[in-house]
Amino acid sequence: MRFLMKFGGTSVADAATVRKVVDIVWGYRKEGHEIAVVVSAQRGVTDQLIAIANEVAGNRNTPAIDPFISSLRVRHKSVLSEVGADFTAEIGGQIEERLCELGNMLHAVHNLRELTPRSLDYLITYGERLNSLVVSAALRQQGIPSVVMDGCEAGILTTTQHGEAMALPESEGRIRSRVQPLLTGMVPVIMGFMGCTEKGILTTLGRSGSDYSAAIIGAGIDAGEIWIWTDVDGIMTSDPRLIPDARVISSISYLEVMELSFFGAKVMHPRSIEPAMKKNIIVRVKNTFNPSHPGTTIVRGEKRDSRVVKALTYIDKVALINICGAQMIGRPGVARAIFSALAEKEVNVMMISQGSSEANISLIIEESQLTIATQALQVLVKGGLVREVTSNRDVCAVAVIGSGMAGAKGTGGRIFTALGNGGVNVMMISQGSSEVNISFVVKQADGPKAVRILHDEFRLSEEDHA
Ligand code: ADP
Ligand code: ASP
Ligand code: MG
Repeated sequence: MRFLMKFGGTSVADAATVRKVVDIVWGYRKEGHEIAVVVSAQRGVTDQLIAIANEVAGNRNTPAIDPFISSLRVRHKSVLSEVGADFTAEIGGQIEERLCELGNMLHAVHNLRELTPRSLDYLITYGERLNSLVVSAALRQQGIPSVVMDGCEAGILTTTQHGEAMALPESEGRIRSRVQPLLTGMVPVIMGFMGCTEKGILTTLGRSGSDYSAAIIGAGIDAGEIWIWTDVDGIMTSDPRLIPDARVISSISYLEVMELSFFGAKVMHPRSIEPAMKKNIIVRVKNTFNPSHPGTTIVRGEKRDSRVVKALTYIDKVALINICGAQMIGRPGVARAIFSALAEKEVNVMMISQGSSEANISLIIEESQLTIATQALQVLVKGGLVREVTSNRDVCAVAVIGSGMAGAKGTGGRIFTALGNGGVNVMMISQGSSEVNISFVVKQADGPKAVRILHDEFRLSEEDHA
């Protein structure tokens, strides 16, 4: 079979974990499978790059660029010397070149005191640029021929939205012609998280974007399966850091995972399902530290599940906007005016609810977009179309996910009765037409409690009865 295997930051954090990655790839190669690898930055490196880029752009004093570069050098070279000893000179030299470029760029940003979205994108790919070299060297040390490719060389062509770029359909053919021919002879190690525009300008695909890279490249090479290797046994009924008795879900549908990741479940990037779904490629989430565990299989999943509710998640970096005004009643085009005003400013509306009186529309958006969204809506207030726009940052959105909810009577009642009994006040409710998701808004502090109450109510920590 042809596999695309993506290894996340925790799977490539140090020499011991890189060895596990090599063992996994070596084992499947030995069985005759073709493998392309996508890697993330070492754990925490992207956060550090974002922090230092912002610091040097704003700092009047000389920022600590050199100590930062030294820490990256130590981190990557120590892993290299342990897992790729024969390549310390060759790959060590390449690491030095990249560190030198990075240092020069940080100094330039500092001198100009200017950090554009374009330069930030370039800077924050250095975690992947460094780490891919180490992982590829480790594979070669094991006798597996390997080359390193950046996302652009691998063929990922994107839109121009820096920090949140999306893959264009042309990527598929480019990836097929660039990556696929390599697979019979070697394992390409492709840097996740990045692509480039038609003009060759580097872009990033959003935080956790290596999952998205994996799906785009997996689709491009016509992978039989895409495997996302991480640090938990699979997709779980809820975030295990919040719900310690969360259980691994053995099989879940593309749609359910899309909803789950859209509402904040960190285990997958929200866009990483679509490319696989389009080509019906099975995606598996597996644990690098427990590879014999079957993990979670993500499939089309037309068949109805025996469980009504499958997973719960919440996202707290959201804001609630209330738009009210009697002028809205019965007046065609008000909703259109609201959504056009927001769309023009590229505000992503995550949830919508409208009272039957039509005098009130509530929206949930990303918190980072609140200022721009309220400014856009104030124009409608000035124009007399709506009376008032208010907002609240102290909220979070909880999503209850499961394709079994479609047609199952009483699920909503169960959810809101349990929350009421637990003393959680619900501020807004929304149900998508797919019926895979019922989401609601509560005060930020109530989010974790709401998830816990519903995890118990639907007995998600118990074994599947399917
Ligand atoms: P990687 O570095 O492999 O990309 P991430 O940290 O991005 O790993 O994602 C894996 C983490 O996602 C897990 O360690 C877990 O804490 C978190 N997580 C949140 N929600 C879920 C969920 N529903 N199922 C599994 N993991 C989850
Ligand atoms: N390194 C990037 C991040 O931390 C991409 C990824 O890990 O998927 O967001
Ligand atoms: Mg991730």
